[in-house]
Amino acid sequence: ERAYRVVASRIGNETGLFVLLFKDQSEARRIDRMRADFIANASHELRTPLASIAGFIETLRGPARDDPVARENFLQIMHNQTQRMARLIDDLLSLSRLEMKPYLKPGGQIDVVRLVEGVIEATRHLAGEYGVVIESTLPDAPIPIAGNPDELTQVFENLLENACKYGGAGGRIQVSAEQKNPLEEVRVTVRDFGPGIAEEHIPRITERFYRVDVETSRAQKGTGLGLSIVKHILTRHDARLSVRSKPGEGAAFTVHFPPVPPAARG
Ligand code: ADP
Repeated sequence: ERAYRVVASRIGNETGLFVLLFKDQSEARRIDRMRADFIANASHELRTPLASIAGFIETLRGPARDDPVARENFLQIMHNQTQRMARLIDDLLSLSRLEMKPYLKPGGQIDVVRLVEGVIEATRHLAGEYGVVIESTLPDAPIPIAGNPDELTQVFENLLENACKYGGAGGRIQVSAEQKNPLEEVRVTVRDFGPGIAEEHIPRITERFYRVDVETSRAQKGTGLGLSIVKHILTRHDARLSVRSKPGEGAAFTVHFPPVPPAARG
């Protein structure tokens, strides 16, 4: 706001230049603020488990020293906290890697059907732990898309893991892929039948560290970074994410990829 006032008062003389400066400055400030918020959030998220570990070390040195049952219990909690920190650091590294190379190398073509099948197979074990069955409706023929297979694997892993973690109560997950015709977008949907997401939260769930219900998300081993990584990767692919949900009836996450024109298929 201040930047705007200063500029406005000088606009008389050299309009173009000042307007340009103003734009630059406010964008730079916005980015600075985002970065500061991000560092504050990340530090807080790392501090919390660290404080808990430090507390248990003290307890193990003192009151719990000669109590094997309490000791085992505290060691387990400390183990969980270190895992939580490791997950967070992995996610932070993923985000920073994505930011360091903002443009995707012109990648090859991949068959999204096979990619999704691979992720489903890799997630079955986790689904089993949540008591969830993964059903899939995938075409027999390949659907080519342009992209990086490792990054896109991460996208579908995150969506399927979320469906297990948050939608697990629904007992099943449906994964489908379709392209109506070769000139239309390719859609891959991961749908669960859990509690869903209230409308007011939907626009915010791809924000970094945003969680609808902090208690549940924490219990569910969340970092709050999963969907922001998904969004980042999809933007690099000219793809986008849409979310539909009716609270109580589950959530559907659809990834929309641009078509690879038949002439460009290889
Ligand atoms: P997290 O690491 O917490 O899972 P995400 O960025 O992947 O972070 O998701 C952000 C939040 O969106 C989650 O904490 C959860 O509240 C909500 N969410 C994501 N997927 C689902 C889903 N399938 N059903 C209900 N809520 C979901």
